[in-house]
Amino acid sequence: MPRPIHATVHTQALRHNLQRARQAALDARVWAVVKANAYGHGIARAFEGLRGADGFALLDLNEAQTLRDLGWRGPILLLEGVFEQRDLELCSRLDLWHTVHCEQQIDMLSQHKTNVPQRVFLKMNSGMNRLGFAPHSYRSAWTRLNALPQVDEISLMAHFSDADGDKGIAQQMQLFQQFTQDLPGERSLSNSAAMLRHCGAAEVRADWVRAGIALYGSAPDAAQHSATEWDLQPAMTLSSKIIGTQQLALGDSVGYGSSFVAQAPMLVGVAACGYADGYPRLCPTGTPVLVNGVRTRTLGRVSMDMLAVDLTPLQQAGAAVGFGSEVTLWGRSHSGALLSIDEVASAAGTLGYELMCALAARVPTSAD
Ligand SMILES: *Cc1c(COP(=O)(O)O)cnc(C)c1O
Repeated sequence: MPRPIHATVHTQALRHNLQRARQAALDARVWAVVKANAYGHGIARAFEGLRGADGFALLDLNEAQTLRDLGWRGPILLLEGVFEQRDLELCSRLDLWHTVHCEQQIDMLSQHKTNVPQRVFLKMNSGMNRLGFAPHSYRSAWTRLNALPQVDEISLMAHFSDADGDKGIAQQMQLFQQFTQDLPGERSLSNSAAMLRHCGAAEVRADWVRAGIALYGSAPDAAQHSATEWDLQPAMTLSSKIIGTQQLALGDSVGYGSSFVAQAPMLVGVAACGYADGYPRLCPTGTPVLVNGVRTRTLGRVSMDMLAVDLTPLQQAGAAVGFGSEVTLWGRSHSGALLSIDEVASAAGTLGYELMCALAARVPTSAD
């Protein structure tokens, strides 16, 4: 028997979430963002649920190759563009669209030998200060690109820093519009947060939205809305089993550092899941967890391969619980009970994004 930990990718949930993205994006086309191995879900598994998207956006050329190998003939966009000259050959061979965010990428394009001109997305730095041309140099970058025989169509792109929060997108929208007003080409601005929160406005949805986290069933603004409130379904369940139990007396402690001390006699279950599986060590006592679909809490420190859960609520309810009981770390239990990855992330002081991407390679994963 392998360790009982397992991740399940829910193909139907991916389809549902893509449908939700389409609703929110209205007339815009939807890029399914599948970078980072489809946010930890696995490119091939995610592709099964997301093949109804208008295109796939990612970073790694080998992930683009995987999509082509899976038979995807539609658009693929490299969100960071190319990293070195020879990447452009792969763009030509695999018919990849790519972001151009700096002069060096234009230099590389100008030296690329091809008979088939490429489609590029010219990125503006509208305030995030990560990648992109400053608004004032955007037009000269466009003009330079437009003069290259290697370039076919130029689309315009920017990325919001605060679509999920109170600062919002108004300032960045204003900059983007001011400096692109009379430039031709399709436009792409919105990530999941902008798509769900701001895409009522036609200029925000533009021609393409870039949906990532929402497709995987996590809320892009978890501090304000839950995934359920956005009608998103978890695309990943991380489950395991109780592999041992301990009856604690008053004053007994659990785990490294004895950080949890029992205030009364209680039954503790030990689940086969730890930080080496991708479960955050930072989750404190009290992090929500489901046992046989019943909500309870973790106890003490998460160790490398195990964590402890409080079985008192199940015992009190008269439920049979112990060795072999189902533990749902996040996602959906067999009984259909939900525990959002965002709740676990929040307990660890992080986001659903980080947890799904950090699922460890040692966790066997399958799709349903
Ligand atoms: C990752 C990424 C997205 C998707 O963001 P989500 O918040 O996951 O929807 C969109 N655009 C760019 C440029 C990205 O890098």
